[in-house]
Amino acid sequence: MAYQSINPNDGKLLKSFEHMNNAQLDKALVDAEACFQAWKHTSYAERAAIVRKAAAMLNSHVDQFARLATLEMGKRIDEARAEVRLSADILAYYARHAEDFLAATQLHPRHGHARMESSPLGVLFCVEPWNFPFYQLARVAGPQLMAGNVLVVKHASCVPQCAMAFERLLLDAGAPTGAYTNLLIGYEQSDRVIDDPRVKGVALTGSVEAGRRVAARAGQNLKKSTMELGGSDAFIVLDDADLDQAVPWAVWGRMFNAGQTCCAAKRFIVMESVADEFLARFQAALEALQPGDPMDERTTLGPLSTEAALLQLLAQVDAAMNGGARLLTGGRRIAREGSFMEATILTDIRPGNPVYRDEFFGPVATFFRVKSEDEAVALANDSDFGLGGSVWTQDEARGRRVASRVDTGMMFVNNIDWSDAELPFGGIGHSGYGRELGHMGIQEFVNKKLVRSGHFAAPA
Ligand code: NAP
Repeated sequence: MAYQSINPNDGKLLKSFEHMNNAQLDKALVDAEACFQAWKHTSYAERAAIVRKAAAMLNSHVDQFARLATLEMGKRIDEARAEVRLSADILAYYARHAEDFLAATQLHPRHGHARMESSPLGVLFCVEPWNFPFYQLARVAGPQLMAGNVLVVKHASCVPQCAMAFERLLLDAGAPTGAYTNLLIGYEQSDRVIDDPRVKGVALTGSVEAGRRVAARAGQNLKKSTMELGGSDAFIVLDDADLDQAVPWAVWGRMFNAGQTCCAAKRFIVMESVADEFLARFQAALEALQPGDPMDERTTLGPLSTEAALLQLLAQVDAAMNGGARLLTGGRRIAREGSFMEATILTDIRPGNPVYRDEFFGPVATFFRVKSEDEAVALANDSDFGLGGSVWTQDEARGRRVASRVDTGMMFVNNIDWSDAELPFGGIGHSGYGRELGHMGIQEFVNKKLVRSGHFAAPA
């Protein structure tokens, strides 16, 4: 009974699913390997026809998929619809561009001819989180199926219906058995999959703790892995920022998906001269959010994904306050059914505070006041994470200069429009390694093979 679909709006159990047994797991791996032996020989056009069809089917059933995400993990319905459309974009993008991205490239050695070819590796194991239950799957399925790999996927245990719906989508679009298989498995079985010689690569999106364990296991097996982990992104407001722009984006950046986004704005670092005004406007906007059923389009504050996620966040806020932080607003569970939490602002978090280096995965903003641009950059970089961040200024060149000095995988100037199919996504440090999306995402699990030819005089 390990996979439980619970509606976080009211805490009611919707459905539950048993883990697969090991015989079923082994059958899934046999099917995946058999599929790979044929799939790797299919043309890009054949693969694209299937992946493009899956994109079209997502687009024509946006509401059906979106409602499932809202039901299982509490995402507000308009956000869920946007996620489904973005997932379709990603599939369509790789259907269109994979062949170009993986075309052989000529090299120019002093002797003979040489080129780099790209070929698929085989069965990939993907471990995915619940916070974007379709987009995360599209991020691996689009590029990897188009590259000629096949996937076995362990989705988060709170979104089994989304996991199964995505598998069904690909099968209905014409993917052969074994091309994309959803696995309902526990952690020990996940280790078995990583150890299995048929599995050639491992991609995980999730927490630092999961990343450590899964990457270590992949490393023991000398298997390539990519890790898309947490973040504690800085939202840097410089003294010349346009607050009419910065404040609404601050609200969006912290509160999208009820704050449960890896690259959400989490640490608000604001220069002294605009700090009071920014904080007053930010606080007022957060306090105006209306909790409610995430299926209702009027709701502006949805629940957290699970009761456990809520309790963890409340405990973090307590730890912050015990460590000397000041609670400016929020900080409590909302008195209604479901896993709702007030939008929260914490100030006065100093380096010794136990949460100083934490990720707050929910509607909790931490606020820091700084005297200079240098201090803002130093504070932004004082983090174990390195996923993303943003800079707000009316001088775009200055914004780009500051962005270049922040040590993360992604920086945004006067926007936090995080993710598009065509833009690489990923971080450094405890935010992981490797990239998904864009032209880079499809290169992670292919063999880059040098082929050199020409007439070379035989050794004497
Ligand atoms: P999580 O607990 O690490 O879960 C993510 C996935 O990993 C789930 O499928 C989970 O399975 C699985 N998992 C965890 N430990 C495992 C283990 N030892 N062996 C095999 N599988 C394991 O993460 P979460 O708290 O649900 O998700 C939020 C985290 O993901 C945040 O830190 C967020 O920042 C990060 N995230 C990063 C990105 C990115 O692109 N960088 C994107 C989205 C989210 P179960 O559900 O069965 O436990």
